[in-house]
Amino acid sequence: NSSISQVDPEIARLLDCELDRQRGGLEMIASENFVPKAVLQAQGSVLTNKYAEGYPGRRYYGGCEWVDQVETLARNRAKELFGAEYANVQPHAGAQANAAVYQALIKPGDTVLGLALDHGGHLTHGMKINFSGRFYRAEAYGVNPETYRIDPEIIRQRAKEAHPALIIGGWSAYPRIEDFKAMKEIADEVGAKFWVDMAHFAGMVAAGLHPSPVPYADVVSSTAHKTLGGPRSGFILAKQEYGKKINSAVFPGNQGGPLMHVIAAKAVAFKLAGTPEFRQRMQRTLDGAKILAERLMAPDVAANGITVLTGGTDVHLVMVDLRNSEMDGQQGEDLLARVGITVNRNTVPFDPRPASVASGLRIGTSALATRGFGDAQYEEVADVIGTALAQGKNADVDALKARVDRLVEEFPLYPGLEQTH
Ligand code: PLP
Repeated sequence: NSSISQVDPEIARLLDCELDRQRGGLEMIASENFVPKAVLQAQGSVLTNKYAEGYPGRRYYGGCEWVDQVETLARNRAKELFGAEYANVQPHAGAQANAAVYQALIKPGDTVLGLALDHGGHLTHGMKINFSGRFYRAEAYGVNPETYRIDPEIIRQRAKEAHPALIIGGWSAYPRIEDFKAMKEIADEVGAKFWVDMAHFAGMVAAGLHPSPVPYADVVSSTAHKTLGGPRSGFILAKQEYGKKINSAVFPGNQGGPLMHVIAAKAVAFKLAGTPEFRQRMQRTLDGAKILAERLMAPDVAANGITVLTGGTDVHLVMVDLRNSEMDGQQGEDLLARVGITVNRNTVPFDPRPASVASGLRIGTSALATRGFGDAQYEEVADVIGTALAQGKNADVDALKARVDRLVEEFPLYPGLEQTH
């Protein structure tokens, strides 16, 4: 029963270092968030000891009476939160959820049509060296080259050429709302199934601040750890008719024993995502992204050749376009890191630079909303980022870092949470 600092001081120290890192800077990676203490508790619980292959009431192991109730609660909460007929809460992560969706809906060798990776799609939507590109014939649609928006007419044209068995909606780096109704109509026109991966915008969907794909898509997959603010993991929602196939695609199709401690943590997160406080947090997230986009469209930033893709945002992230700037994505990421702000470089559509350097920055506002940020703080952080990007190499990093430090102190992360020793 010795504590981790006694058993393994090396790991204990690294855990503390990471907590300090999270506390000491501003996290603006669009796919990250901070889970509440209740989620940490569930995920760090004794449920990690339990094998529970199968589903509630139909397990291949004894002793599942309590974890059955945990999984049933998680499933019911997911269904209620998103108005879905069916939920599977066992996928270990988003990629595993997606692997199960493919397996449930189509056969190896079938054609799929998703958003191109370099236009904001995800690896699991058909990247050549991902399972999705190796086991399925992956075709892609891009954004409209003039508006940079996902355009149903382009999807329709690509679908008519490619004859996909499955059309994929959802994205990892895109700042606007898709038209799920139009995408479903296209899928029907070409006889394809329609799947939406809502990993990034699930939190806003839960809060009623983003259109829901659930009424239109045959299947919806998601992660729980992005805007939704839950544990690192995945889940699947669907029309009831797909339930049996998805169940067997997750287990035994893709996974063995479910991570019951993570399922308990998902249940907690689904409960919290139904509260007025969560909705208010998602509203602050969206407002913060709009404030950031506005600042990054100001003349001083534009003068450095920097624009905001699509001229704004409807979601929790802003895509910064550095194609016409001397600063590349790597340099932008590094500059903001020196100021105390963590973002990630990202390709933008039609990017002339290689992905390792990239011409874009993806900047998200959801983790800061969890930290408590409102309009005033977003104005300040937006100005720090705008000033840094406008001034580039000449930026006064120390002065900007001091402004970040003030925000960090004003909004402590995990106040009262003990270090590990
Ligand atoms: N789907 C989308 C749209 C994502 O953006 C991501 C993660 O970045 C995933 C799936 C994969 O999730 P995970 O990293 O949990 O496998």
